[in-house]
Amino acid sequence: MAIDFKRLRLALAELSKMPAPFEGGCLCGAVRYRCEAAPLWSGHCHCNACKKLSGAPFTTAFTVRTEHFHALCGDILSFSRTTENGQGVRSRRCAGCGVWVWAERDARPDFRAVLATTLDDPRALPLVAHAYVSEALPWTPLDPALAHFQKMPEDELPAPRAQT
Ligand SMILES: [Zn+2]
Repeated sequence: MAIDFKRLRLALAELSKMPAPFEGGCLCGAVRYRCEAAPLWSGHCHCNACKKLSGAPFTTAFTVRTEHFHALCGDILSFSRTTENGQGVRSRRCAGCGVWVWAERDARPDFRAVLATTLDDPRALPLVAHAYVSEALPWTPLDPALAHFQKMPEDELPAPRAQT
């Protein structure tokens, strides 16, 4: 399915209007975070690593600038892995309850990917895209209103989305 860029731009504009600051945290409450600005990207990821790491058929996350993401408290557990592109990624979890709260990629230190289900109000997050639909399970419904990317969105977009 080709990317509908007009629709994608509209979804990104909607996301940029998400009220900030907003907060979230883990299940036991030890880890809390605050985001000082609206996310730059959001969506579902169907990659096999997300399935294993979350125990769910896909994850839903949003991207914020590292300078706008503040972990407020709590001990953090880290798990490092290497992606199929050879990039290092760290998953950050609460050391108490084990909930996966955010991820960091070595190649993109200026950004944090935060698990949307840790938000205090996940319903407030507008979604933009499905990523890694090539690895989506056959029984996972895909929203046709969202942009579909076979793998990572930045590998398929024609220009950097850094203007946001
Ligand atoms: Zn916890």
